Amino acid sequence: MTRTDQLRARLQQRVLVGDGATGTQLQALGLAPGECGLRWNVEAPDRVRQVHQRYLDAGADLLTTNTFSGTTLALAAYGLDGQADALNRAGAALAREVAGARAFVLGDIGPFGGLLEPLGETPPEVAAAAFRRQAAALLAGGADALLVETMSDPAEAQLAIAAARDAGAACVVATFTFQHSPSGLRTMMGSDVATALRAAADADVVGANCGTELSLDDYAQLAAELVAHAGGRPVIVQPNAGSPVVEAGRVVYRTDPAEFGRAAARFTAAGVRIVGGCCGTGPAHIAALAAAVKPR
Ligand SMILES: [Zn+2]
Repeated sequence: MTRTDQLRARLQQRVLVGDGATGTQLQALGLAPGECGLRWNVEAPDRVRQVHQRYLDAGADLLTTNTFSGTTLALAAYGLDGQADALNRAGAALAREVAGARAFVLGDIGPFGGLLEPLGETPPEVAAAAFRRQAAALLAGGADALLVETMSDPAEAQLAIAAARDAGAACVVATFTFQHSPSGLRTMMGSDVATALRAAADADVVGANCGTELSLDDYAQLAAELVAHAGGRPVIVQPNAGSPVVEAGRVVYRTDPAEFGRAAARFTAAGVRIVGGCCGTGPAHIAALAAAVKPR
């Protein structure tokens, strides 16, 4: 049985716990704001391992690789596009090493950082090639599944999912980012939950992560909508630690771990199968979440 098969089997058995934010954890270990975190997969691997280890110790069943925005297109902004393969492969290998037999590794693929034609200037085949290359490097490094996350444009999500399949991914998880609109919760591109999930028809697990100014109550509503439209597929939600406030010019997430854990229990009661965290969440949030949703 491959590890990907084991992941599928485990999802049928019980709720799984994801991890929390990576960037803020790396910043706490000295990564400068604005610096490319992927660089540390090669230059400071011990610190990346340390972040994974903290989440594993907190009870995460899934470790997400430190490869968000790791396509050649996104890395070009840092002059690192030539190192894309090495940075992604190293990122997957670090998470795999820490996970061992205790957790599964999700190879993180975020947005490529631009807009697709005709809204933007990037031809779909260029974005597809960049996603395929990142996906292949993550799989080569040992990722058990790929996570296409923080998607606002359903067309981009569809393209990234197809690229992950092309690269050989046996399990693809796809999550969209929603926000408030006069007509309810929508992606930035205006798609409702049903439309977004239709674009993710080829993903094995679907859901939502992040979300500008969505409260945990909003996420409870979103969780129910996702379960209703997932067509029986497992649903994942990885919210921020509530909606942020601005303090002294900095965005701060105030939701404490206990409150986050209580919210997670509401999501799983609505039928969600994987719960983790996004912006503002750390190991303490994941520990509270694990205590709330994992059988003892
Ligand atoms: Zn986020």
